[in-house]
Amino acid sequence: MPLKVHPDIASLVPYVPGKPIEELQRELSLPRAIKLASNENPIGPSPKALAVLAETASTLHRYPDGGAFRLRGALAERWKVTPDQVILGNGSDEILGLLARTFLSPGDEAVMAEHTFVIYKMEVKAAHGVAVEVPQKKWHHDVPAMAAAITDKTRLLFVCNPNNPTGTMATKAEVAALMALVPEHVVVVFDEAYYEYVRHPEFPESLSYVKGGRNVIVLRTFSKIYGLAGLRIGYGITTPEITNYLNRIRPPFNANSMAQRAALAALSDDAHVSASRTLNHAEMDKVRAGLRTLGFDALPSEANFLYFDVGRDGREVFDALLRKGIIVRHIEGRMLRVTVGLPEENQLFLSALQDVTRAAR
Ligand SMILES: *Cc1c(COP(=O)(O)O)cnc(C)c1O
Repeated sequence: MPLKVHPDIASLVPYVPGKPIEELQRELSLPRAIKLASNENPIGPSPKALAVLAETASTLHRYPDGGAFRLRGALAERWKVTPDQVILGNGSDEILGLLARTFLSPGDEAVMAEHTFVIYKMEVKAAHGVAVEVPQKKWHHDVPAMAAAITDKTRLLFVCNPNNPTGTMATKAEVAALMALVPEHVVVVFDEAYYEYVRHPEFPESLSYVKGGRNVIVLRTFSKIYGLAGLRIGYGITTPEITNYLNRIRPPFNANSMAQRAALAALSDDAHVSASRTLNHAEMDKVRAGLRTLGFDALPSEANFLYFDVGRDGREVFDALLRKGIIVRHIEGRMLRVTVGLPEENQLFLSALQDVTRAAR
């Protein structure tokens, strides 16, 4: 019997994650490899989070607290909302899926930028919706054009801010102009996975729209600055009405015990967050300057990665770097994305890139 798969699912391409370090070492018999591909925190997890894992391990025969009482309470306190405005996910990725399945009926539209986080399109299609991709302007979200793309069929609008993979941001004024035009039947998703890295004074306060009762959800994660990507935990802050709908399809134990406990500890580890920020900013400025010396002009970035044009097929440069044990990300065309790593890793990346691109000239 041939399988019967919905064409919306059959037409999807599996997400290709950044190659794990061990896999590359195995394939090329390299003594060492450096991963600058997935925007992880190069310092590692919060030591406070690590310290609570052993104590949580002894309770692993029990199901997690499905209501995540303590973590949701702590997040509510941190962001000055009520616990019923907080929803947790197995990574904020999972919440993107919950949003798509909750709000999209077949044929409904979700507006998003071109060159943005690929998971939006994947989840929208999987929910049988239509992804409306709005071209960017100089690698920035064209926010007025996104507002203009809203129709009666629009249910979701994604603003990835700062944007992955470009690192660029939408400003407070752009977001205010957008919010003045968005009708009530559209839920605006502000995906702020890199929020804690942002330096720019014009970054919007998206939570103010949630607090003002607008149909908005702000997504944040413990995978990036908190250094807990492997545990899979992210969260959304929205209205009680929206959490109520999302909770109807949320798998009851989607946030596991280790993740809940570690995230709670990491949330209070201000020293780890600020050390991570400081290192990222200093190193990002150095990598950007190093790239410029090599003749590559990276886009301005408010996140922990840089996006730049290598001037020729990015795939070739990506492969050549791989052979030198450096894993970056090739997204499309001539563009490469590199995560800011530790000082030594960044140096090795820059000198490998110099070798690779010089050899080709
Ligand atoms: C990394 C990332 C996420 C979150 O990932 P999770 O690990 O699932 O929390 C969400 N959005 C963007 C744009 C990201 O880059």
